[in-house]
Amino acid sequence: MNCPFCGNPKTNVVYTGKPEDGKLQRRRFCPVCKKRFNTFERPFLGTPMVVKSDGKREVFDSEKLAHGIRIACAKRPVPAEKISELVDSIEKRLQMEGKYEIPSRMIGDLVIEGLKSLDLIAYIRYAIVYLRMDDLHALRREIDNLLGENN
Ligand SMILES: [Zn+2]
Repeated sequence: MNCPFCGNPKTNVVYTGKPEDGKLQRRRFCPVCKKRFNTFERPFLGTPMVVKSDGKREVFDSEKLAHGIRIACAKRPVPAEKISELVDSIEKRLQMEGKYEIPSRMIGDLVIEGLKSLDLIAYIRYAIVYLRMDDLHALRREIDNLLGENN
């Protein structure tokens, strides 16, 4: 933790409080400028930034992801609980990558993979939007593949 007064990177912890609301208070002392300051630390979950296809970066938004999946699952027999489980498992996968940034494509692939095992109609709906499957032949091939797998 850098000293906010002089920028010295080595500050000493002189006191650590009890965790409160997931935050941990620490009192630190800077041996260089002799100033004291408090920090409130939170565990960093490490969800990477999402790099979109146009190169823009955005913060991973689990609510936005859940929304997209819910739309694909509209009027399908997919319990809301399964959708949150899928979103959670995707977020965990991203954290396990241990990277600062991941391509948005990777999230899309994980959703596709998850929906494929949840509900095939939802999967096709998501694939049409996400893979821009606007070609009926491509769509037919995919559906034929799915029908083949299920036989
Ligand atoms: Zn200092």
